[in-house]
Order: sequence, then structure tokens, then C-alpha cells
Amino acid sequence: MNEVKLIVSNWKMNLNFSQSMNLIQKLKSINYNSKRIKNIICPQFMLIPFVAEQIKDTKILLGAQDCHYEKKGSYTGDTSLDLIKKMKCKYVIVGHSERRLFQCETNQIIRKKVDFILSNKLSPIVCVGESLQDRKQLKYIKVVQNQLNECIPNGIKQIIVAYEPIWSIGTGVTPSIEEVTEMITFLKSYLHNTKNIKSCKILYGGSVSSKNFKELVNSSNANGALIGGASLKNREMKKILTFG
Ligand code: PEP
Repeated sequence: MNEVKLIVSNWKMNLNFSQSMNLIQKLKSINYNSKRIKNIICPQFMLIPFVAEQIKDTKILLGAQDCHYEKKGSYTGDTSLDLIKKMKCKYVIVGHSERRLFQCETNQIIRKKVDFILSNKLSPIVCVGESLQDRKQLKYIKVVQNQLNECIPNGIKQIIVAYEPIWSIGTGVTPSIEEVTEMITFLKSYLHNTKNIKSCKILYGGSVSSKNFKELVNSSNANGALIGGASLKNREMKKILTFG
């Protein structure tokens, strides 16, 4: 398949300054097919200007891990989309389960961010996913459907959604290929047919590594991956970016 895959590195609040510069130097030397892969790095905010400088003449793309939904104002500790754009970020992760959990972000807040990012012509990467309890109680489709309805407007041209089952994030436990395929098929069909969105890219996220990438992402109908832990390791990223 020659379709473009999005490989999104979510560094979270990891890597100090020298570790991040070291990793970016190594990532720059990886020879991957940029026609088949979009290699998107999302560092923590304080690292973004330095990473932006390092990658300016490369094919590596930059994203942020969050943003505020207002242009500016009295929001102590938050970061504006204007500054994120200035640093040449093209993507913004929103609604990650860690932000839902630790920053109490609701679907309503996430929706405001999605609207604001779209109106600024950047691409939100909207994270959705069910808890282990939802999965066990067979409520996973319903939960994710509700997240899609509340976080994403109808009738927009395009959207990137990352399906991240919460029980798989950072645990080393992954869904089966059938489970991933079922959810991705549902997401594509629901976004396309019910929410009337023409172009939908669906990423899988949750304990992706070089060992399971081929099965979970390349063989499923996913359009790429959102990668946490493994994205901090140059060797893992080399294998993932040069798959196939
Ligand atoms: C994530 O937090 O987005 C993630 C997928 O993490 P990990 O790959 O470490 O499970």
C-alpha cells in the first residue's frame, strides 16, 4: 500500500534539553521515505523552539501536545495557538487521556480547542478511547461515538483522530488486530457517513513499538500511529520509520 502514514511522536513531559537535542540529531539522520511517511514530533512546549530550529531544513514536521481555545488572555500557565503557529507547528494533539484525567478536560473543552485549531488552519489530532471497564462492559463503541459527537464538528473537510484505548497507553498491553480493525472501521464509517467528513485519518495509539507496529498499524486499516514511550528511543523510531 502506498498510502501516506502519519507517525506522531508524543514525547509528553519527557527528555531534558540535551536528551532532546541528542534524539533530534539521531532522528534527522534516519533515511525514511517522506512520500510514504509523515514524521511528526510533538515535544513539550519549552523544547519546541529549539526542536523547530534543529529540523528547519528537514522533512520532519512539528506538533504541539495541547493549546488553549482562546487567542489570548488571563489563562495562567496556558499556551496560545498564535505562538504554537509561530514555531511552525502544523499539528496539535487535543483530548489526550492524560489531559482528560490530570487537567480534567471535558469533551466540551476539547471541542472548543478543535474549533479554534481548525479556524487557524492547523490540524488537530483528536484523541478518543475507552477505559478498560468500558471495554469489558462492551460499551467501547458507544463511548467513542459520544466523544466523536461532542469533540468534532460535522461537515468539516478533514480530521485526524487517534484511537487510544486508555488501558493500552503505557501499559505494554495492546488490543488484538481484530479489535483495532473493528474500531478503526467504525471510526472511518461514522466520521464519513454520519458526521459528513470527507477525509478522515485514523491513527492507533497505545504501547506501539517496533515489534507490534507492522501488525497494529501497517496491517490494520490505520493511517498511522501516535507513539509515546517508543518515540523517545532512536532505535525504535528508526525501525518504525523504515518499516516495510
Ligand atoms: C500516548 O500516550 O499517546 C501513547 C500512545 O503512549 P504509549 O505509546 O507509551 O502507550
